[in-house]
Amino acid sequence: MDAGAQWAIEVAGLEKTYGERRAVDGISLCVARGEVFGILGPNGAGKTTTVEVLEGYRRADAGSIRVLGLDPWSEGEALRPRIGVMLQSGGLSPGLRTIETLRLYTAFYDGADDPEQLLARVGLTDAARTPVRRLSGGQYQRLSLALALVGRPEVVFLDEPTAGMDPRARAATWDLVRALRDQGTTIVLTTHYLDEAESLCDRIVIVDHGRVVAAGTPDELTGAAPRHEIRFSSRPGLDLAALAAAIGVPLAVCTEDAGEYRIAAASDARLVGDLAAHLLAVGAPLDALSTGRTTLEDVFLQLTEEDA
Ligand code: ATP
Repeated sequence: MDAGAQWAIEVAGLEKTYGERRAVDGISLCVARGEVFGILGPNGAGKTTTVEVLEGYRRADAGSIRVLGLDPWSEGEALRPRIGVMLQSGGLSPGLRTIETLRLYTAFYDGADDPEQLLARVGLTDAARTPVRRLSGGQYQRLSLALALVGRPEVVFLDEPTAGMDPRARAATWDLVRALRDQGTTIVLTTHYLDEAESLCDRIVIVDHGRVVAAGTPDELTGAAPRHEIRFSSRPGLDLAALAAAIGVPLAVCTEDAGEYRIAAASDARLVGDLAAHLLAVGAPLDALSTGRTTLEDVFLQLTEEDA
């Protein structure tokens, strides 16, 4: 296998500046063939710029960029039929019907997918004859998704694919993304929904101020062993050493504000019982108890803290 065959996308040292603003400041990443790859980051982090360089819509100032072994800017003509792009909004003729729009796009590709089948896959069969201007926000998103898929692309770029979708449409879109991946399609996804990234992506980069600040699988990013956190309220001034000894988790008990406590631990089932028993034994109340696993959202917020 030649070195490039494993990777659908290889980016090294990508830079892009608009006037004085350095939107992308040296991003490097590789996307394997057949994986769902997430690019996350706060508003203005440089995600869209990066993706648009990969799609061949923007020219990088510096860096080496290969998509399916091609330079998206200078070899765009060869690349475009092999990729699918879901645009965030706008660009479609408002007067055309859904099915007409899809049929129009099939003309751009050899071996395009069947428009009726594609409409069914994105759940738009009932809106086939609806003019584009009358589609709801979520329906418009689904049409954009169908248009990205019409040429049976090897790589699909999905920019916030489920923005504005209701929960059912969102779940259907997740299933569709997984089905595409199972067929060997490579998917690059930007999203602001961290649960979506955690559930769908094989690997993720978190971008902030035009740089990659973290990379890995969702499990790697959230810590290999799922960590749990227990928060509870009780009376202020509990004896923390006695509490830690009682629940068997030394050094992991912190107070936040008066009477607010936080415990970080590897698992929570036994802990909650031990905690309740200890508080009962010392005559302290147990209020507002909550437990949860460390999520990608916690990691994201920590890494991009200064933008909050
Ligand atoms: P969002 O999550 O809000 O979509 P993003 O991570 O996709 O953000 P980009 O759209 O890539 O971020 O923007 C990165 C930075 O570059 C921002 O500060 C933005 O204002 C700036 N920028 C983007 N496009 C242009 C442009 N055409 N001209 C000038 N500045 C731009």
